[in-house]
Amino acid sequence: MINPKTIKVLVAEDNYINQKLISKLLLNKGYNITIVDDGQKVLDALEKEKYHIILMDIQMPIMDGYQATKLIRAKEITSGKYIPIIAVTAFAMESDRQKCFEIGMDDYISKPFNKDDFYKIIEKHLLIHYG
Ligand code: MN
Repeated sequence: MINPKTIKVLVAEDNYINQKLISKLLLNKGYNITIVDDGQKVLDALEKEKYHIILMDIQMPIMDGYQATKLIRAKEITSGKYIPIIAVTAFAMESDRQKCFEIGMDDYISKPFNKDDFYKIIEKHLLIHYG
């Protein structure tokens, strides 16, 4: 079991209500969180600080979650680093799910989500990468 207090989560979400919901769930477990509201700010945040996992909304202004993920994965080819990225999206079709994986996301949570599933998916990927 990984101690959430040692984990920094970058949350990319442009909807205020979802920001509040997601941050409350993460803070309740003790995770450290940073919230940004577009894909460009995800890239900027990664330049400034080390995060362990990203929860990425797909539909965001300026740069969407697909584009941000593509750019992060492209950079990792040269940096040799890897950050798990979980899509958290209202897109719920199988084709949307496929697209997330093709682009390089590690997993997919569709909104609205079940609280326990939300925690489980995050814990699973933290264990894979840092356990
Ligand atoms: Mn959105």
